[in-house]
Amino acid sequence: MASQVLCKSCKNWNPSTEDYCQSCGTELHQERKEREKVQLERSETQKGWDVPVIKIKPTHPWFIKPFLYVARAIQLAALAIGGALAWSAFWASA
Ligand SMILES: [Zn+2]
Repeated sequence: MASQVLCKSCKNWNPSTEDYCQSCGTELHQERKEREKVQLERSETQKGWDVPVIKIKPTHPWFIKPFLYVARAIQLAALAIGGALAWSAFWASA
């Protein structure tokens, strides 16, 4: 598959295997790299829980993590209680 990349700067077509425009030297894949980064970040956030719980990332400073763990535990407990209430309300009304 020989695909081509259009240079945003001079509108010259280049082989997609080239990193830089053969005509003007502009980086050809910058946009694609950014798009891949965004997609990666998006898939990161979609991993695991689909409930809105606090995310603890490796990038968080170590002294923040204990607070995040506690906050997340409280949040999960609140979700569990909410779920139990909804469940009992469902059965009470049935
Ligand atoms: Zn160019």
